[in-house]
Amino acid sequence: ESLYKINGWGAPYFGINSSGNVAVRPHGIDTLPHQEIDLMKVVKKVSEEKSKGGLGLQFPLIVRLPDVLKNRLESLQFAFDSAIRSQGYDSHYQGVYPVKCNQDRFIVEDIVEFGSKYRFGLEAGSKPEILLAMSCLCKGSDEAFLVCNGYKDAEYISLALQAKQLRLNTVIVLEQEEELDLVIEISQKMGVRPVIGLRAKLRTKHAGHFGATSGEKGKFGLTTIQILRVAKKLKLVGMLDCLQLLHFHIGSQIPSTELLADGVGEAAQVYCELVRLGAGMRVIDVGGGLGIDYDGSRSPDSDNSIGYGLEEYAVAVVQAVSYVCDQKFVKHPIICSESGRALVSHHSVLIFEAVSASAAKNPTADSVPFDFVEGLTGEVKADYMNLTSAAIRGEYQDCIHYADQLKGRCVEQFKEGALGLEQLAAVDSLCELVANATGVSDNVRTYHVNLSVFTSVPDFWGIGQSFPILPIHKLDQKPGVKGILSDLTCDSDGKIDKFINGESSLQLHELESGGSNSGYYLGMFLGGAYQEALGGLHNLFGGPSVVRVSQSDGPHSFAVTRAVPGPSCGDVLRAMQHEPEFMFEALKHRAEECGGHEEEEIACVAALVGGFARSFHNMPYLATTDSTTTTT
Ligand code: PLP
Repeated sequence: ESLYKINGWGAPYFGINSSGNVAVRPHGIDTLPHQEIDLMKVVKKVSEEKSKGGLGLQFPLIVRLPDVLKNRLESLQFAFDSAIRSQGYDSHYQGVYPVKCNQDRFIVEDIVEFGSKYRFGLEAGSKPEILLAMSCLCKGSDEAFLVCNGYKDAEYISLALQAKQLRLNTVIVLEQEEELDLVIEISQKMGVRPVIGLRAKLRTKHAGHFGATSGEKGKFGLTTIQILRVAKKLKLVGMLDCLQLLHFHIGSQIPSTELLADGVGEAAQVYCELVRLGAGMRVIDVGGGLGIDYDGSRSPDSDNSIGYGLEEYAVAVVQAVSYVCDQKFVKHPIICSESGRALVSHHSVLIFEAVSASAAKNPTADSVPFDFVEGLTGEVKADYMNLTSAAIRGEYQDCIHYADQLKGRCVEQFKEGALGLEQLAAVDSLCELVANATGVSDNVRTYHVNLSVFTSVPDFWGIGQSFPILPIHKLDQKPGVKGILSDLTCDSDGKIDKFINGESSLQLHELESGGSNSGYYLGMFLGGAYQEALGGLHNLFGGPSVVRVSQSDGPHSFAVTRAVPGPSCGDVLRAMQHEPEFMFEALKHRAEECGGHEEEEIACVAALVGGFARSFHNMPYLATTDSTTTTT
């Protein structure tokens, strides 16, 4: 467990069971032993052919764990409830889920359902997001907030006001001063009294990667001057009572509770000032930023970790708000947070297969065809002689030096046409032998994985963020190989060569067999937030297959309650404006033109056309032998 630090980042949801497989504890610390879900059993169920009782799905695969999602939501709610109780805070916590973290229908519906008894709401930042949030919240609690953030045009504002007409507890948060005129004008036209919030640009600055949002030069929010102008204008039009919520967001992955308390304290001062100016304030929305400990170090010094847990986060927020409000004799506001990453990261696991690995570099003297030496002349020959004498004397540094020099000169000679391919290969083998013998060989091997980093781990490529990755089985066997993961795209950035322990390779097991059903499965954890919507279609690799796996008390500890294959080649082509149906017809027409009228030729054309149909239907990833032959 310590090799992959699973107890650090995975607790209380992930651990290793007695079979050496990763096991999910779907209810966190409340999980009973018989409720644990062995991820390899899920893999078996998902990958096995339908005729054998499986689901016949292709990898990569996202396993969604709604029980984990529920546990995260409840843990966040309970952390605030308990902080509120312990601090004697005189109001309540009412969170919202920012749908941008993962807009998947079933995640949002689950959150609305699980959160209904806690009045848990949704936050939207664009027109499609508000549409989905509105429709999902129709099934939720009437008191749940619908927080409308982001840049807004007249249509967005009309939608938000229509949500109010549907009696959803809607707050239009002004992100820019200009939005105010639109809100006043449209609400008066529609005869709807809006609830308005404003996003403050705080001075508190979060220094990490995600802190670009914060500080006076941050992209979002209203400055002090603008806040005052908004309050004055609202007063002028008799709508100051509509201003009820103060929002801020100092960035994702807030590293420490000190910084958090600093920001919340500053915002609470703004809140109290708005109360003094006569606004109808009743909610402070502390934004997102509740972080995730991706590397299990619980350290505030990296973007990959944070120095607090849910409880400390909640206490810091409640304390900072109550401290300021008590000083100013202001009634405690409802505390809202927009925690996204902290809510959805754990509930989804990405599983993918290693399909092959580069050969181990274990050269022996036998593997070097020494007869190449006969063809060497001049300086190259001298380098070789020097290398041999250094080796006899056991002078490793000299060996490395002469081997490098020899290789460099041989490459030059090869480029000039003076050295043959066999001789160059022999020099390469000799240099590998030297590197191995002198211990400078890095011995890091490349594992080719059936995955697109651009589609499934875009934050690794885009911002260098590391996620916990480990084999999900064989964890009772010592891994003997150091490897990096290279994906399927034709792009040298499509690799993972930085891991949560700061190392540039991962400890892996030797593959027993190659091919797309090598049977060696890796899992990427904590990727439930942002990765899916950010992921692109590089090389036209689409999203993974998705299954929803719930804990079950039946014969197995789990039930697959939903299984969706990933986008097919036809689907991803359609996303780039191609028309798979016409493409198929064109290929079919061509095949018929090329074919003849003999029985055998007709059969050959039919086979070709059948192959095209399957190719459009199958996923773009490397297929197992079974799925390539599956017909539509
Ligand atoms: N609210 C706003 C306004 C945001 O910009 C973000 C993300 O950056 C969030 C909430 C969610 O933040 P997190 O995922 O860190 O909780």
